[in-house]
Amino acid sequence: TDPAIIRNFCIIAHIDHGKSTLADRMLQSTGVVQARDMKAQYLDRMDIERERGITIKSQAVRMPWEVDGVSYALNMIDTPGHVDFTYEVSRSLAACEGAILLVDAAQGIEAQTLANLYLAMENNLTIIPVLNKIDLPAAQPEKYAAELASLIGGDPEDVLRVSGKTGVGVEALLDKIVRDLPAPEGDPNAPARAMIFDSVYDTYRGVVTYVRVVDGMLHPRERIQMMSTRASHELLEIGVSSPEPTPSKGLGVGEVGYLITGVKDVRQSKVGDTVTNLAKPAAQSLPGYADAKPMVFSGLYPLDGADYPVLRDALEKLMLNDAALVYEPETSAALGFGFRVGFLGLLHLEITRERLEREYNLDLISTAPNVEYEVTLEDKKVVRVTNPSEYPTGKIAEVREPMVSATILAPNEFVGAIMELCQSRRGVMGGMDYLSEDRVEIRYRLPLAEIVFDFFDILKSKTRGYGSLDWKADGEQVADLVKVDIMLQGEQVDAFSAITHRDKAYSYGVMMTGKLRELIPRQQFEVPIQAAIGSRIIARESIRAIRKDVLAKCYGGDISRKRKLLEKQKEGKKRMKMVGTVEVPQEAFIAALTTD
Ligand code: GDP
Ligand code: MG
Repeated sequence: TDPAIIRNFCIIAHIDHGKSTLADRMLQSTGVVQARDMKAQYLDRMDIERERGITIKSQAVRMPWEVDGVSYALNMIDTPGHVDFTYEVSRSLAACEGAILLVDAAQGIEAQTLANLYLAMENNLTIIPVLNKIDLPAAQPEKYAAELASLIGGDPEDVLRVSGKTGVGVEALLDKIVRDLPAPEGDPNAPARAMIFDSVYDTYRGVVTYVRVVDGMLHPRERIQMMSTRASHELLEIGVSSPEPTPSKGLGVGEVGYLITGVKDVRQSKVGDTVTNLAKPAAQSLPGYADAKPMVFSGLYPLDGADYPVLRDALEKLMLNDAALVYEPETSAALGFGFRVGFLGLLHLEITRERLEREYNLDLISTAPNVEYEVTLEDKKVVRVTNPSEYPTGKIAEVREPMVSATILAPNEFVGAIMELCQSRRGVMGGMDYLSEDRVEIRYRLPLAEIVFDFFDILKSKTRGYGSLDWKADGEQVADLVKVDIMLQGEQVDAFSAITHRDKAYSYGVMMTGKLRELIPRQQFEVPIQAAIGSRIIARESIRAIRKDVLAKCYGGDISRKRKLLEKQKEGKKRMKMVGTVEVPQEAFIAALTTD
């Protein structure tokens, strides 16, 4: 295909602003999907995605569109919408020349949209601002057109107004994509270089890799090389999705499509990597490659210990399709055998857990999420800690914690509440800008540990749902952190240990000991519950003794009733975990680890 007739674009939008609906409408308007084959959100493949209405995996579709008698090939690249997947977003953007900035005409721009807009600008993309959902009675196109125009420059009149639902304005948008976006540029005679912007495991075909060709050409049957690892593979198939996969005779400069090599693991075909020709390799890979880095860690344990092998196999399978997922086996005295699993963020954790439970029929316990700490001991040894129970007991010289830069957008009446929240989370303000008369962008640098848990929910409630948040990793800082242990009858319960800031250790201790007193049933002896930093007790509770002889309730005679009771008691014991001499029902662990 002649690069002059190619246009590569993506859609940047906040969740629920209508990206999937608009994408569906474009497929219909360009005729690649007939109305009768249309199921809502054609491109959102996974069930969970569809139900949650979010897009996790990006994909590309090729659509024909005619302007002034010339037939163009539009490649729409779908970007994931959530902050957990920023790196994947950045690679999808790097595969395009332009971006549609899609904003709900009843809501205005949100923090994540803004963050992705900045990413698009850094990649020098041409931005087409579009207001969506103009069919809504609550739409305020004039107001938000002015906001968009002041944000990216230009005239409010030039902001397109569309409705993905009714189809109004969609054809005009397709025309504008052809007219306003530059055609891709590259050297057709140079050694091949194609950037991987997505890689998906398919049970039948193995890994399907989505690429954007920058220079040269890739042909079926030739050998290709992954530039980050130098691994080489035979190209079994190469083609374009329109939207079903259609094999082609090759992909040249500016083209977007998929390739299949028969590899079975997405780690062999990594997002951001450059594909070249083995026989005539490029000298330099394309810029921007980075390994996915897990930020949040949690222990995953099967509720029923017998399911451990099922969990292990399930994680192994999920890993084939998720280059960001890492895990290693771990044991907990309280929870038994499980895995410590690393995630990009909380949404990634939730999605993974949901898939394990749903697709593999597992019941799981997940421990409180943790970030990764770097602990330097007095003998200069450095330990990386992702699990509080592995916190070193020796003399500690310094602890470093990961930091993030956060951007919060909200109506200006909430500025005070937001600053208070960020301050209470050890945040340092970086700046504040007004996007319009009544909307403000606030920037903070915060410890990641302070925002992974409940920060977003609290932000939402403090701003009556109007606040939005985006964050990205921003180095580390030295902090005064301590490990708080929880003990039952003097015996440490590993699943409840936490690493917290010294100022917050006391409230964690009080909260957890109080919770456990409620949750653990009385035993035949008194059970002290304590929270401690090292050997210093910072909070205590106790469970009073009870003499629990069930047989005493049966007045002789009825043998079968006695036997039943004994059996019942035995069964009850099976679901108990012994912590030292204390019997703790598994439900108590689960309830204590669930925060709400
Ligand atoms: P996404 O999260 O950005 O992919 O958003 P979706 O396409 O899933 O849309 C979110 C919600 O907005 C759904 O309930 C859609 O039916 C609705 N929606 C999308 N586009 C429009 C539109 O143009 N008008 C109206 N009234 N609703 C829309
Ligand atoms: Mg969507």
